[in-house]
Amino acid sequence: DRCLAVLTSGGDSQGMNAAVRAVVRIALFKGMKPYLVNEGYKGLVEGGELIKECQWTDVTHTMHKGGTIIGTARCKEFRERSGRLDAAANLVKARINNLVIIGGDGSLTGANIFKEEWKGLLEELVRKERITQEEAALLPYLNIVGLVGSIDNDMCGTDMTIGTDSALHRIIEAMDCLVSTASSHQRTFVLEIMGRNCGYLTIMAGIAVGAEWVLIPENPPKEGWEESMCDKLKSSREKGRRLNFILVAEGAIDQENKKITTSDVKKVIDSKLGFDTRVTVLGHVQRGGRPSAYDRILGTRMGAAAVQTLFEAKGEMDAFMIAIRGNEMTKLPLMSCVETTKKIGSALNERDFNRMQELRGSS
Ligand code: ADP
Repeated sequence: DRCLAVLTSGGDSQGMNAAVRAVVRIALFKGMKPYLVNEGYKGLVEGGELIKECQWTDVTHTMHKGGTIIGTARCKEFRERSGRLDAAANLVKARINNLVIIGGDGSLTGANIFKEEWKGLLEELVRKERITQEEAALLPYLNIVGLVGSIDNDMCGTDMTIGTDSALHRIIEAMDCLVSTASSHQRTFVLEIMGRNCGYLTIMAGIAVGAEWVLIPENPPKEGWEESMCDKLKSSREKGRRLNFILVAEGAIDQENKKITTSDVKKVIDSKLGFDTRVTVLGHVQRGGRPSAYDRILGTRMGAAAVQTLFEAKGEMDAFMIAIRGNEMTKLPLMSCVETTKKIGSALNERDFNRMQELRGSS
């Protein structure tokens, strides 16, 4: 039997369970033997009980749960070759050379390094007599497919990442809760929204609730933005609006690359307008709760596409990332997605970025 293992790594996100479930079930459907690796790369490095063969019913009733039932972790050992050597030994013992990695760009980069080192790692394991020549010969290559689990929607090449839609739901639920108190007291709320490099959640939440001002890393505000923001707040109050929402992405910066925080924004409003202003940091609430229908479906589709890709491979294949583009599942070269994301940093996604550049050029 061909064996396949799935793990979740890096930050958790809603919808990861749907992806894991789909990987397990499509693998069984295709006649591949699925394994669950618990606690991310720590599970690969430590092996033993953390790498377990999995049956159809092991993933029953998991779809509706937030986070990841197989655990996730940051694992510094896997960043070192010695940790990856242990990981390779554990995979060889279980006869696994197909991996589905669900995580962010760090996890996917790690997966790619592991794949590229595979032959060398096996040679070293044989040399050190940790595995036999015969065992090594059974698994001459490692095939990997990456899925992006991230609430930030911060990967180039895919329109959406697993978890973003649920996080948006959490944000707008919280904002809906604030509306009544904000409106009763005529308050201004300044909210910090997750997204260290990416303002997607901030912009989309801003549209979904009608925020008055958003600050995102991709588009540092022009000098004098404080005045413009206060003018806007003042004029909307004059028109009869009883509350204001200002959304600040975690990674918001100004033209000098200096971080703009929610308390900076509050200070500006306090001093220029004297409005009753409150800061709310939603924090990890955004990662929590049940996955939305969209994320369950996205996770399921991506998990199925990942297994399909591994199943169809005839021998060694390049590392792929499964993306959704225009509602179609697509496989893209993994490292070019990761590298483009690093290069253009914070763009919403590649196409939005190109469009943004065009618009900037023409204005
Ligand atoms: P994310 O996947 O969400 O971006 P991290 O960057 O923290 O999160 O990565 C998660 C884990 O992936 C790390 O703890 C480490 O085990 C592994 N990893 C990340 N970057 C690398 C790398 N360059 N080489 C090897 N492993 C890596």
